[in-house]
Amino acid sequence: MDDPRRAIPRVNSILDDPRFAEPQGRLGRALVRAHVGAVLQRVRGGELPVDKALETALDTLPKTAASLRRVINATGVIVHTNLGRAPLSEAAKAAMVEAAGHTDVEFDLTTGQRAARGTAALAALAERVPEAEAVHVVNNNAAALVLVALALAPGREILISRGEFIEIGAGFRIPDLLAAAGARIREVGMTNRTRTEDYADAITPETALILKLHPSNYFIKGFFEGVPVEPLAKLNVPVVYDIGSGLLEPHPLLPDEPDARSALRAGAALVTASGDKLLGGPQAGIVLGRAELVAKLRKHPLARAMRVDKTTLAALEATLRGPLPPVHACLEADVRGRAAQLAKRLHDHGIDAHAVQTLAAVGGGGAPDVELPSWAVSLPARYAEPLRGGDPPVVGRVAGDRCLLDLRAVQSKEDDEIFTRVSELA
Ligand SMILES: *Cc1c(COP(=O)(O)O)cnc(C)c1O
Repeated sequence: MDDPRRAIPRVNSILDDPRFAEPQGRLGRALVRAHVGAVLQRVRGGELPVDKALETALDTLPKTAASLRRVINATGVIVHTNLGRAPLSEAAKAAMVEAAGHTDVEFDLTTGQRAARGTAALAALAERVPEAEAVHVVNNNAAALVLVALALAPGREILISRGEFIEIGAGFRIPDLLAAAGARIREVGMTNRTRTEDYADAITPETALILKLHPSNYFIKGFFEGVPVEPLAKLNVPVVYDIGSGLLEPHPLLPDEPDARSALRAGAALVTASGDKLLGGPQAGIVLGRAELVAKLRKHPLARAMRVDKTTLAALEATLRGPLPPVHACLEADVRGRAAQLAKRLHDHGIDAHAVQTLAAVGGGGAPDVELPSWAVSLPARYAEPLRGGDPPVVGRVAGDRCLLDLRAVQSKEDDEIFTRVSELA
């Protein structure tokens, strides 16, 4: 009779508590019900005292109706593909929220008539890259390449240097992607050496285009020779240059990273790139270049299957027109002072923490040979797992018996949150 489980309340009686009214409105009844159910399950399992059930359920409610959570990226990898690549600027986030409801994405508010989709985002892109006669935006860079193959090389040949046969990650290989879109791939040159003559000799009436791929996630050192855009552009077939990371202009810290403006000036007919790498914006594929080629891409029936969402257009426009995105601040940040200060605060709290010098990376398939000097707060390795588990999760890296929280990709306003998370765990 005195089995404490007898006193376990019913889910409905908890949901009827007035404190659960607002969360049910915000998150939906089904989600809150499942959450309360899970908490009561912990009570039944003896993990949680019954008189703590209601409070715990309230305190641990999910923040949103989706499970993706904001994460503090203390890995030292700025564009971390597993952590959502580029963090958006506040301006881009605000633009996404504004466009999330009904919005004038295809509507002219002056005339009250239908209008072309996403013109403002495309105009922003065109303004930033005056060398491009025309621009287009699709879901990601992979889609941009597929569209290039579909529209410009159906059943025909695309020439690619053997030094540029790239797997972009998770088993996806660019030549396979193009072949799946119906193009035939013709390998040119050798892994370590490809010369202009190799391309010239491979050109036949079957050749649709030359595709130059920036080996963004590796680099070849030693006895290596590749061909820049300029001589290729003289070969009388269009040169499409996949620059990968989406720099629009050269960046002084990334001397070997190609940029769209220079590539077009050198004669590339089209440039393709990702929106969520060094451009610092939302996931998107951008295509820049000659008007007649861009028009062919836009007119292809499958272009419709790659079209971007209104919130993507909003974020892209805000990234291009608004303040510099966080990726750029991270690239240029000197975090030594912040690391020293955070380590001292933790140390004063009795925690085994000190600042150490590290090497951060651009990541996300960008500038693989660039090491960015950085600083981390070093903690005992046992902190790594609980730091990932709490709220907000802090993801560092473990090196030997230490957990390193590299501040290169951490926004300065997140330092306090790291302090709170670590000191709570201590
Ligand atoms: C990242 C990358 C891609 C793939 O881009 P997504 O936007 O992820 O589709 C293609 N090519 C190169 C060179 C890249 O670096």
